[in-house]
Amino acid sequence: MLFIFKQSKIILLKKFDDDDSRLVRFTDREKQVNPHFAINLINSIPPKVVKDRVVSCDGGGGALGHPKVYINLDQPGPQACGYCGLQFTLDHHH
Ligand SMILES: [Zn+2]
Repeated sequence: MLFIFKQSKIILLKKFDDDDSRLVRFTDREKQVNPHFAINLINSIPPKVVKDRVVSCDGGGGALGHPKVYINLDQPGPQACGYCGLQFTLDHHH
């Protein structure tokens, strides 16, 4: 038996028998996790070097992309698109 205290009431829950079908879980398989996390995949793409202080990104895929956003590159270092995570960096040597 399992007792739960909720708002000063005692609720009594029935404990399932060990062979009850409601306790069945995936016990015969290992838990499968996709190791290719999106954050790691997008970070593996090197930053795109551009010559403009402001660039736009639309995901590059037409209907598969995302709304066009403008990214300011005045801050030092690569700046990432808020939608897709592609990074852009300003080429200071021009
Ligand atoms: Zn983007």
